[in-house]
Amino acid sequence: MKIAIIGAGKAGLCAGKHCLKENISFDIFEQTGNLGGTWFYTDLVGHDENGAPIHTSMYKGLRTNLPKELMTFEDFPYPKQIRSYLLQEEVLDYVRNYSKKFHINPHIKYFKRVIWIERQNFLWSVHYEDVKNKQKEMEHYDAVIICNGHYSDPFIPDIPGIESFSGKVKHSHDYRTPEPYANKKVLILGSGPSGLEISQQISNVATKVFISHRSKDALPVSDALYQKCLVKEFVENRAIFEDGTSEEIDDVVFCTGYNYNFPFLSKRCGVKITNNYVHPLYKQIISIENPTLAFIGIPFKACPCPLFDIQVRFVLASLTGHFKLPKKDVMLKELVEEEKRKPGPPSSQYHQLGGAQGSYFDNLAETAKIRKIPPVIQKLYLRVISNRNLNDCFKIIDDHNWVQIYCSGTGCK
Ligand code: FAD
Repeated sequence: MKIAIIGAGKAGLCAGKHCLKENISFDIFEQTGNLGGTWFYTDLVGHDENGAPIHTSMYKGLRTNLPKELMTFEDFPYPKQIRSYLLQEEVLDYVRNYSKKFHINPHIKYFKRVIWIERQNFLWSVHYEDVKNKQKEMEHYDAVIICNGHYSDPFIPDIPGIESFSGKVKHSHDYRTPEPYANKKVLILGSGPSGLEISQQISNVATKVFISHRSKDALPVSDALYQKCLVKEFVENRAIFEDGTSEEIDDVVFCTGYNYNFPFLSKRCGVKITNNYVHPLYKQIISIENPTLAFIGIPFKACPCPLFDIQVRFVLASLTGHFKLPKKDVMLKELVEEEKRKPGPPSSQYHQLGGAQGSYFDNLAETAKIRKIPPVIQKLYLRVISNRNLNDCFKIIDDHNWVQIYCSGTGCK
């Protein structure tokens, strides 16, 4: 068996590592010259020197929104002495070391952008382009694991008047540093981890920052940072809010999330995106129409490393025959029942795990009879999402227990 893995971010590297462990032959296609996916920082926005779209959404000074204890692959811990909430470069180092330790690098085809995947004669044809010399090639594989990342294609809500707004408008995908916002009045839309951190960064240099969000919780504010409700419309350079108030704004940053996007999948692959919901997939991983096609990392509000690890092991267990997938109609029936359990028509919210992450992990392990993710991951995750403080430090004691530990700011004891 030979597998094509699309993307050399954490998910693709994790897939490569498990293929090596199972003695499965594979190639990892990576469109850039770097591994680490979104953890690789570049000043560039738009397109790179080869004309390829910039994939990463990383900005300078990013602090992780999860502690390192939840951002670890099971068999590859971070150095013990460092703080729990890390900087971008510390995570990138970790990913590079992971690739080195498990000898994944020789399997990565750099600067190869996958442009088309189709199913032909019981095989997958993977068409790819060398982004430097634009030469196109094709190879056949028995299975495809898609690890192309889901934070690259910006979602911008349609707000009346935005097209004639006179200031600069960008999405957080293209935000790199706060300096361009010095002495300006800036509106940030969205209060997810990026919205919060970017508004804090910009408030250090701007005259005023307004953070507009739907959350009922009060957010941390400072002298230059003000909370607003949702924007109803823009009129020239004014933002009109749903409560009737308005503010004059110089620039706008949308921190409004991303779309799932698989531009290289032919229709005949049998996977659709409707209302940002990817379907029909078994357990949010395996294509029900073509079970040798799999997607890693679609669920969000989760701990990516443990998620990738168990999803990859689930896929490989199925591909190697360690467990047999149910028949197509049984998988479809389970999916329809799952869809019905969630309110409203299926949307990207279907892919949100949050508190349900632990039972999702357990269900995958029980279904495929594979090793479980230790319960301590979900226990600590619930603590972190209910009370996030980037100065907290944690230590995992065993599969069930964690403790909070003293942190001096530079290191933990
Ligand atoms: P990516 O890292 O996006 O990697 C995908 C790879 O696929 C890229 O290298 C890309 O170039 C390649 N690729 C895409 N399309 C093609 C193609 N057609 N052909 C070839 N190659 C292709 N997670 C945390 O756990 N903690 C955090 O604090 C955290 N903070 C984040 C902050 C930001 C700003 C963002 C955007 C994400 C953050 N995340 C965080 C989530 C992060 O995305 C995941 O942790 C994880 O790194 C995703 O890995 P991935 O491999 O799925 O995708």
